[in-house]
Amino acid sequence: MKKLTILSASCLSACTLFAGLYGDTPDDRHAWAVHDRNRPNPVKVTAAPGLPPSDAVVLFDGTEKTFANWCDKKGEPTKWKLVDGALESVKGAGYISTKQSFGDCQLHIEWASPSKVEGVGQGRGNSGVFLMGMYEIQVLDSFETDPSKDPNPNPNYADGQASAVYAENPPLVNASRAPGEWQTYDIIFHQPVWEGEKMVWPGSVTVLHNGVLTQDHWEMEGLTTHCRRRPLQPHAVKLPLQLQDHGNPVRYRNIWIREIPSRYANKTHGGPAACRAEVMKLRSETAAKLFAKIDTSKTDAATLCALLEVISYCKEPPYTDILKKTCCAYKARVEAMNDAALDNAKGELSSVKNALAVLRRNSVIGKECKMCALLDSIWERKGWNKKK
Ligand code: MG
Repeated sequence: MKKLTILSASCLSACTLFAGLYGDTPDDRHAWAVHDRNRPNPVKVTAAPGLPPSDAVVLFDGTEKTFANWCDKKGEPTKWKLVDGALESVKGAGYISTKQSFGDCQLHIEWASPSKVEGVGQGRGNSGVFLMGMYEIQVLDSFETDPSKDPNPNPNYADGQASAVYAENPPLVNASRAPGEWQTYDIIFHQPVWEGEKMVWPGSVTVLHNGVLTQDHWEMEGLTTHCRRRPLQPHAVKLPLQLQDHGNPVRYRNIWIREIPSRYANKTHGGPAACRAEVMKLRSETAAKLFAKIDTSKTDAATLCALLEVISYCKEPPYTDILKKTCCAYKARVEAMNDAALDNAKGELSSVKNALAVLRRNSVIGKECKMCALLDSIWERKGWNKKK
């Protein structure tokens, strides 16, 4: 981009009138400035203690109604049971599956292995949370794995205990509660990202087990299987959540899910998928919206500052032409001010000076600028640079 030569800036003053340019301006990878007041605020979500967030999909809350959100893998009614407000696995019934499909998500799920301790190893309290039906966060009675500390331990391979990414990564710590006690998983899951058959990113899973971090942004290495390493493969971007029947009457309750965006969905502001064309498109749209609010027949300080903000997004005609005209007119007015008028106008002059400083700091405008030179000379002559 060519640089405007009519503008530049110097130090900032605390006395300004107009909101606008402040943080570093948009660039090729960022459609918004730092602290950009034009950037949309996030949608509000309410989240009362102990309740699902207002935008969550409640998959199971102990009622018959939400029990109906589930089916078997073939879409037929599940043989799992609704027992005392819990969803209980039934041996031989097979996996239970949500009727609705999901991709990247935040999942809350509570589970309990049987209070009657039976079996050993992978045969004790085994189930599993299968994200997209492909990636298992293990559910197992892993309360005590050390034979020296418990007369009835459940020693096991580390990558198969509770909160493991099964067959890949053990939990960072064992946060398991005793058999029969309710436990929580809070899971943040991002599916792998593909461009055709080429993997762009393997995805990740983060797990809090009973509030304790056990999987810290683990990047998946494969699709869950047993004994073997099974490479990641492309699949549908939305698939059902599944819970495993491994022959043990594991119970579940309070299951809710929130769909979340992939960080690769963001192409307009930072992150790994920032795309210059998309960034510039949004910058142009923002510039047009801001410009539409400006009365370009005016040449006052507020109009000048608004135009300076517009070119921080898009430094193209007609914005630059109108800015040049406005700036020249405003400069002529300032040059005609006597000392008293300058004192009265200090606030608006500071706003212009600050806006120019931000643009010059970010190389939106060049260092040589007659308006800046004029303001610098005024500041010097009036002693406004001196600290009091
Ligand atoms: Mg399992």
